[in-house]
Amino acid sequence: MLTRFLEITRDRINRPLQYYQDICVRCGACMDACHFYAASRNPAHIPAQRMMLVRKALQGERSWLNWYRDADRADGRQVSEIQQAMWECTGCRRCATFCPFDLDTALLVSVGRYALMNEGTGLEAETGHGMILEIGNAEISKGEIIEDLKEFYIEQVKLLEKRVQDEFAPDLQIPVDKKGAEILYVPLVGEHATVPAAKIFHAAGADWTMSLFTATNHSFFVGDMARAKQAARLILDEALRLGVKAIVYPECGHATRTLLSFFENWFGEEIAGIERMNLEPLVASYLEQGKINVRAGAVDTPITYHDPCNLGRNGGFFEEPRSLIRAVASEFRELEPNRALNWCCGGGGGLIAVPEMKETRMQAGNEKAEQIRRTGAKWVVTACENCKTQLGDLNEHYGLGVEIKGVTDLVADALIL
Ligand code: SF4
Ligand code: SF4
Repeated sequence: MLTRFLEITRDRINRPLQYYQDICVRCGACMDACHFYAASRNPAHIPAQRMMLVRKALQGERSWLNWYRDADRADGRQVSEIQQAMWECTGCRRCATFCPFDLDTALLVSVGRYALMNEGTGLEAETGHGMILEIGNAEISKGEIIEDLKEFYIEQVKLLEKRVQDEFAPDLQIPVDKKGAEILYVPLVGEHATVPAAKIFHAAGADWTMSLFTATNHSFFVGDMARAKQAARLILDEALRLGVKAIVYPECGHATRTLLSFFENWFGEEIAGIERMNLEPLVASYLEQGKINVRAGAVDTPITYHDPCNLGRNGGFFEEPRSLIRAVASEFRELEPNRALNWCCGGGGGLIAVPEMKETRMQAGNEKAEQIRRTGAKWVVTACENCKTQLGDLNEHYGLGVEIKGVTDLVADALIL
């Protein structure tokens, strides 16, 4: 049982991961950092325990020393414990922030998910987990049919452009596939990720073009880095073909993490001349340089900001979104704790795409719901699509009575042309 899982895990356990497993002193400092554990008090949710489960499974395979090592053979109970440990984790890395040795459970979870996928366990096509895999595959195969889709896509963007011209500025353009543009903006599925960006780029006088692809990378959620790279390759090839100077990713945490933390390793010299950035810091720089102007105090509703784990704790973008919010909102209230210590919303790591995990997500979001309630804010603003969906579900589940918005929605609605 779990033969492939163990083979793959052993193969992908590199030196840092081996070190994590060896060095953990079981001090428990990570325990209360995990929102799953905080909400459930289930020992299976202790971050260190996730690592220990994998370690025990690996050791259980090995030798006559098992009696000494407290090792288990991978039986049915162990399989289900490992599945739970790998999937009931959002990869938020809050535990690593609290660990005195920075041990990164999320890294092991990524390996574990990939190994489970290869074992064929829990990622069957008919399950929500399997859907993540399917979406990841579709993101890659889009590259093969893009020429057939292109005309229809451009027609749809033209219709959207007309609507935004009518409501915002008659000379606004949403260019697609424009050679020589400075910025390649890679959106998400749905116009909500395009319209605010288009308004801001127009106001800033930016030379930009829309990507034919989307920024999301579902293979990343299952730790399949080879396929995650294939999906990212489509964006790089497009950037090179159009000759852009920068790739800009939208309000999407995991996608931005692939862009900022993995593109360089994946593509080396090929990506060297192309800047990579997230929309939030770019818009913050527009504001700082006076390229855009907004109405101060345009929002007088009490407002709070949720730091998405992948943009904040894992990306270091804490102040840029706050500077944008403060520029338009008169009553900004911080969540406590915030920035690197902010609680994960409970919807990351691909969990939002798994209908079977909704109850778990709602339970894991308990700390977040309480944080929001304590502020008394009426609007919750964030900069990640996953977080927005999860916060919307938490709002309903916990009766928070708030509205959920994106940072760029706020800026776009307050623009002065
Ligand atoms: S805080 Fe770090 S060292 Fe302590 S139990 Fe957790 S993972 Fe191990
Ligand atoms: S990465 Fe986040 S969800 Fe996963 S074990 Fe650590 S704190 Fe918990």
